[in-house]
Amino acid sequence: MKENQKMSLMNWIWRSFLRIALIPLIAVELAFIGIYFFSNDWANDVMMKLFKDEAQEDLLHMVSRESKVITMQLDSIAKTTNLYRKEVEQSIMEGATFSEKDQNRLRYSDEGVFHTTHNIKEGGAAVFYSGAKTQDHNLQKLARILTTQGLMKHIYKTESYATAVYFNSHDSLNVIYPYIDVMNQFNPQTIIPRFNFYYEADQEHNPDRKTKWTDVYLDPAGNGWMASSISPVYKGDFLEGVVGIDVTLDTITSRILDLDMPWDGFGMLVGKDGTILALPQKGEVVLGIDELNEYDYEEQIYTNTFKPGKFNLYNQDETQHFADILSEAKQGLTMAKFNGKEHFLAWSTIDETGWKFISVVDEDSIFQELFVLDRKLMKIGALMIFGLILFYLMFFLFLYRRAQKLTYSISNPLYDINKLVQEIGAGRYYQNDESFRIEELDETATSITSMGKTLGSANEELYKAQEKIKAKESDLRALVSSIDDVIMILDENGKYINIWTNDESKLSRPKDELLDDTIESVFPEKDALFFMATIRDVQETGQPKTVEYEIDTLADKRWFQGRLAPIVEESGEYQHFVLTARDITDLKELQESLRRAKEEAEQANKAKSDFLSSMSHELRTPMNAILGFTQLLDYDKHSLTQSQRENIEEILKAGNHLLTLINEILDLARIEAGKLTVSIESVEIYPVLEEVLGIINPLASKRDITIDHNLDSCEGLYVYADRTRLKQVLLNLMSNAVKYNQDQGEIRIKCTIKNSKAQFLVEDTGLGIDDKEIDQIFEPFTRILDEKIVEGTGIGLTLSKQLVALMNGTISVKSELGAGSKFWVELPSVETINTEPVYEVDSELHVPLQQDQKKKVLYIEDNLANLHLVQKMIAHDSQIEMISAMNGEIGLKLVKTHQPDIVLVDLNLPGMDGYEILSVLKNDDSTKDIPVIAVSANAIPQEIEKGIAVGFNNYLTNPIDVTALLRLLQKLLYEK
Ligand code: ADP
Repeated sequence: MKENQKMSLMNWIWRSFLRIALIPLIAVELAFIGIYFFSNDWANDVMMKLFKDEAQEDLLHMVSRESKVITMQLDSIAKTTNLYRKEVEQSIMEGATFSEKDQNRLRYSDEGVFHTTHNIKEGGAAVFYSGAKTQDHNLQKLARILTTQGLMKHIYKTESYATAVYFNSHDSLNVIYPYIDVMNQFNPQTIIPRFNFYYEADQEHNPDRKTKWTDVYLDPAGNGWMASSISPVYKGDFLEGVVGIDVTLDTITSRILDLDMPWDGFGMLVGKDGTILALPQKGEVVLGIDELNEYDYEEQIYTNTFKPGKFNLYNQDETQHFADILSEAKQGLTMAKFNGKEHFLAWSTIDETGWKFISVVDEDSIFQELFVLDRKLMKIGALMIFGLILFYLMFFLFLYRRAQKLTYSISNPLYDINKLVQEIGAGRYYQNDESFRIEELDETATSITSMGKTLGSANEELYKAQEKIKAKESDLRALVSSIDDVIMILDENGKYINIWTNDESKLSRPKDELLDDTIESVFPEKDALFFMATIRDVQETGQPKTVEYEIDTLADKRWFQGRLAPIVEESGEYQHFVLTARDITDLKELQESLRRAKEEAEQANKAKSDFLSSMSHELRTPMNAILGFTQLLDYDKHSLTQSQRENIEEILKAGNHLLTLINEILDLARIEAGKLTVSIESVEIYPVLEEVLGIINPLASKRDITIDHNLDSCEGLYVYADRTRLKQVLLNLMSNAVKYNQDQGEIRIKCTIKNSKAQFLVEDTGLGIDDKEIDQIFEPFTRILDEKIVEGTGIGLTLSKQLVALMNGTISVKSELGAGSKFWVELPSVETINTEPVYEVDSELHVPLQQDQKKKVLYIEDNLANLHLVQKMIAHDSQIEMISAMNGEIGLKLVKTHQPDIVLVDLNLPGMDGYEILSVLKNDDSTKDIPVIAVSANAIPQEIEKGIAVGFNNYLTNPIDVTALLRLLQKLLYEK
């Protein structure tokens, strides 16, 4: 039976009963019944054999016993016969006379027969002396024989089988006891020696002269079928006669017939020759022969009469083979078929007569009992089976009833329990306790009711929790719908576990389709791999990560910024992740437009810077000329008028202002273009301040502004800065403090160190700045005051702020309108000081030389104004002669031919530039020792350093300062 096949409880119990109890029982019972029938059959066979053997033995025993009995009796008769013979032999030897009684009853008949006429009272023998005698009757002999009458009587009485005792003589005398009416019985002419009971004893038939038995014959004396024990009576060798004792077959037969044969059999007596001597009626039926019992004595018997041939057993078809079998052994057993039925046939021979006593038993009747027993046993067996069937039917019925009862007693509580469970299942948790007889079911019911109660209370809790969750859910829903982010739960394999969004169009596919799908199926392979790598990363580090990705949503292509954060499991591992995705498409677009705008602005700015740069550069060249020539005029001011001197001063003032403006714009442009770099080194503030004050003091004193000259606080203070730029910044702050001060105002300078920062403070008592405008002062070209009041460019502070920032510092302001302003610069301070000036210009002047010793300076410059200017400057030293060349090639030739002492070279030449010229000069042994000085408009410190590094002896920037140039030349020419 399949395990999952369902069945009713009744069915199950019933099947269990059948399987466990009935089937084995029936099997055992059937086995026992089989054994019973088999053993019955076997016992039957054994019994049959036993019965057969026993029956055979019994039959043999019985026939031998019966034949013995007959033998014994016949033997006794034979002995008596012998005794009687002796008596007769004795009596015939002696003389005797008739007794009176005999005398009276003896007489001759008409036929010449001497015979007794009647019996005597006490019983005597009958005498028949045949009329057919051949000689005279010997009455003397008769008288002698009659003396044996007493013995005859005695023999007759004592021998129960004896029917007659007689003496027959050779001359046909017959004396017979008991008395018979001889004349009626015997033929008067009877010749006795012709009868078998006589001649069988004669010399011829019985040479031993013994007592012997005759065959069965019909008694002529009327006693029916009989046999005689006969014995010859000799007188000498003469056979006087024969004595005999008759035994009628009836006496023997009646015994045989009376025999109570077992198994309903019968006994029979058969003569030597096979003649049936005695056969009971039962035997007649079996053998199909009618016994010849009667014989007609109406006629007198003259001769021997024997049974007819049909009474001979050996003459019958069915039985003739017995002639051989029976004659073989004295006694034996054989099977014979009579009337188609098997019969046992046991025989035993009676020695005296050679008769056979045969008992015949129907084989079936031997086994009759056994058959009966067998049938009874079969009946018992059948009854047993019937009884068993009945019992099992009853038992089945009983078991069926039991099973039903059992089913009811289990199923009823089960139904009740089921109902209980259904009730609880339907939400009616609080059920009354049910009581059942079966303990387990009772316990189950109790457990279920208590479970129901537990469930009830749990359900209540659950309901409350659900309510809370619902509230939270609605909050969550409100939250989710209020935020535009898509929130997703992913597992470690990138599978979507849950998704929340207020706008499904932000998903790549409908939510239901996405759930249980993986990132790999949603994203292109590259993005998916990146996502998975991010998940791995987050899983390993436990730290959230941000990713940006573009995806085809249900609406359109959109950018998302996703934050992937791990969810901590109870185990402490990370298997699930929250991906919060925010639509950043607009932001991306904005970024892109900003980037483009920036790029454009940068380009515009670059264009502006380039423009300013080239403009400034272009302006500086003429400015050089203007300022240079004005300086030259100023250098020779003693030859000028007062008014000319004042004009020159104005030109210088305006020119310097313009140059400052140009320089500042150039710096600003460079800063904006990112091209301005500062070289940071440790710079001592104090000397810088002194330099600045040197420039500022004259300006301040013009307006009676007092500068607090106590610079102790600044002494020994070093900062990391670009010296030039620091000076530029300080100069700007100080000049502003003067410019925007009031007359007779005050300026205070102070240095402090705080948190590794050096602070330089400039405080004035000037106009101050309005709070509203204070933020704008660092913007380029912002000027709060009217330009006419105070002159300025409006980019000083802007540039200063940017320069300080480049030097990792800050610039700050605090101001009060009408009271004054405070500006301070903060820069990283230096603890250990290392200041090695690149070079130093000696301020001492040279010794004049002879004309022929005049030094030659070759200046290679394409700008004619510059050439003139320098020429004018050098003309101040009569010891120096200047040669010029307009390009590199000519310049080099001139070097070869003139061997100048110093070469000045403009770095920015058309064709071969200053660096190339230097390289050629330094690589030529004849020129390599000539000092070469670079002249350039590029005043960036890095450029200067670079120039010195490649081999220039010095680096001068335009506009060339006359004094500085002359000092340098003198130093190089005369201090070698
Ligand atoms: P400029 O001085 O050439 O105008 P700046 O950039 O140096 O340009 O200064 C910008 C503006 O800030 C000035 O025009 C002025 O109005 C204001 N300012 C600067 N320094 C001071 C100061 N010490 N006191 C008052 N106002 C000042």
